[in-house]
Amino acid sequence: MNKAFNPFEMAQAQFDSVADTLDLETPVRELLRNPLREYHFSIPIRMDDGTVKVFRGFRVQHNDARGPCKGGIRFHPQETIDTVRALSMWMTWKCAVVDIPLGGGKGGVICDPHNLSSREQEQICRGWVRQLARNVGPVTDVPAPDIMTSAQHMLWMLDEFELIHGGKYPGFITGKPVGMGGSLGRTEATGFGVIYTLREALKELGIRPEETTASVQGFGNVAQYAIKLYEQLGGKVICVSCWDQADQKSYAFVKKDGIKLNAMLEITDRFGGIDKNKARDIGYEVTDGDSWLEQEVDILIPAALEHQITGETVGKISPKVKIVAEGANGPTTPEADKVLKERGVFVIPDFLANAGGVTCSYFEQVQSNMNYYWEKDEVLGKLDVKMTSAFKAVSELARKRKLYMRDAAYVIAIDRVARACHDRGWV
Ligand code: NAD
Repeated sequence: MNKAFNPFEMAQAQFDSVADTLDLETPVRELLRNPLREYHFSIPIRMDDGTVKVFRGFRVQHNDARGPCKGGIRFHPQETIDTVRALSMWMTWKCAVVDIPLGGGKGGVICDPHNLSSREQEQICRGWVRQLARNVGPVTDVPAPDIMTSAQHMLWMLDEFELIHGGKYPGFITGKPVGMGGSLGRTEATGFGVIYTLREALKELGIRPEETTASVQGFGNVAQYAIKLYEQLGGKVICVSCWDQADQKSYAFVKKDGIKLNAMLEITDRFGGIDKNKARDIGYEVTDGDSWLEQEVDILIPAALEHQITGETVGKISPKVKIVAEGANGPTTPEADKVLKERGVFVIPDFLANAGGVTCSYFEQVQSNMNYYWEKDEVLGKLDVKMTSAFKAVSELARKRKLYMRDAAYVIAIDRVARACHDRGWV
């Protein structure tokens, strides 16, 4: 969330370049390069010390031609409306590329949960819903967790929505706790989804996972489950990184013979922050946060924030790297993307690689609406099928039309959404 970097401009630039390839007409371009609707509001909260603090909140609904908007809510001190706009647009493409009947939305609150009590966070969740109660809902816009929001936050939001509307609406929100309308497998879904697509990419490149090493940026929900499944396939992660709240900087944790996931989890807080002193004690080399990108590995998995592989940092990537599997949203800038493309790196673009979360959220909606819940294996099995077939459709188009994977994914997604807008008679 660098100040000079505008993620929405980047999302629009990515869209424009594909719109040219697809020869989209002006009205459909105008419609798709901007959100349909945006809500900006204030949430006044009585803090634990008795003072009142006002937090800024947003919800952006980019497009709902293919179904209700869908997308997470971030709590982040540097949240900006342009980040939320970009993320809402990427959600539209994400739902379309995996072919689920949903549109794109995203929300956020400028706040730092590290400095808020549980009661204060609950008040923010309830305040967010009160401001939007008539603009979101099971058939219009369905929120979900994202950075620094959890199943508990979703449950507070659901409770407020149900208090306002009277009745039970489990389909209003996803990422709920299991047993309270949540789906088994949701916690694993995004990280596992990244690895389902990585597994397919490795197959395509004729590389055995057991012969590969990876470096991961971040150690939160997406990173942890991606590492778990990648290790089950036989891969070895030699570096992870995280944000250190006390030092206000990031660190990388290197272990050339492979990190030990369970031991690492024991010294990690609920925000995905690793205790650097304890990590040193158990044999990790603790280095500058950016060094995750410089490791001599076969695979890079950015799974922290947007704007991480940039024109300045892309040159530091080892020539050994063959695949970048984008767990995070928007980790690679167009400038860096060009370099990766020229170098022949196989990039699994964010809105395909990390679509496992929204796909499982869709499964959660389906289960909530039926009030009947599937076993975890069934959820993950269905997720694997969906992710694998989306990956294959994209890679087939990429091969057939000699396109870069990101461009092929955009062509499929934008074409589907443009058709829906056209068929509805909007443009
Ligand atoms: P999280 O809050 O659980 O974890 C984020 C991790 O990134 C933490 O380990 C944090 O310490 C680390 N981090 C933050 N800033 C960093 C920095 N500057 N350098 C290194 N590490 C840093 O978040 P998450 O749910 O794992 O999401 C990670 C990314 O994946 C985000 O871009 C998010 O939008 C995207 N994503 C998440 C989901 C999901 O279901 N959770 C779905 C799709 C996309």
